[in-house]
Amino acid sequence: GVRHEPTNKIVLDLERLYDEASEELAYVARYARAIQQQRGDYNGRVLSIRADDLRSLAIVYDSSPSGLIERLNEHGVLVADPRAFFAS
Ligand code: C2E
Ligand code: C2E
Ligand code: C2E
Repeated sequence: GVRHEPTNKIVLDLERLYDEASEELAYVARYARAIQQQRGDYNGRVLSIRADDLRSLAIVYDSSPSGLIERLNEHGVLVADPRAFFAS
């Protein structure tokens, strides 16, 4: 059968991200809203973002892409496996 590689896709949990009270993720939230707008993707609970965009965002946070991923993880706003996310 088909083997699904563990994706390296960056998938944001929008509910968590938008509820996040800390100012630290304000730029990520603003960016995600802009991407939703550009795609017309308003109804999702999650949003897959481009690796390129993560790189740009990391610069804003004076960090590396992996450093930013770590921070997003600490805030619990990343979805490791969107299919498992919807199954639960
Ligand atoms: P675009 O970059 O010219 O992409 C046109 C269409 O190609 C997109 O329409 C989408 O259907 C498809 N597409 C392009 N790259 C990908 C990809 O990596 N994965 C998938 N699944 N589809 C892709 P869409 O989604 O309506 O977006 C319209 C325009 O909005 C895009 O035109 C781009 O200029 C902008 N945009 C949308 N999402 C993003 C994003 O995550 N980052 C950036 N930088 N721009 C985005
Ligand atoms: P996946 O990438 O693991 O995504 C699983 C589910 O997460 C998707 O189910 C969708 O409900 C949600 N999801 C992930 N990213 C986004 C997002 O940016 N916006 C929104 N609104 N929802 C998102 P879905 O749509 O039934 O897709 C199932 C699988 O089909 C996806 O698994 C992926 O493997 C594939 N797929 C769907 N759309 C695209 C696409 O535009 N490009 C590519 N390459 N694969 C796609
Ligand atoms: P995906 O759709 O599974 O695409 C995986 C990778 O294939 C993308 O990684 C990108 O490197 C390449 N790719 C797919 N479609 C296109 C395309 O039309 N043009 C180009 N130049 N490359 C393409 P990337 O960029 O890191 O994006 C990760 C995920 O973010 C995508 O997974 C998709 O779920 C989402 N995404 C990115 N850009 C767009 C967009 O413009 N519209 C939508 N609807 N989703 C996007």
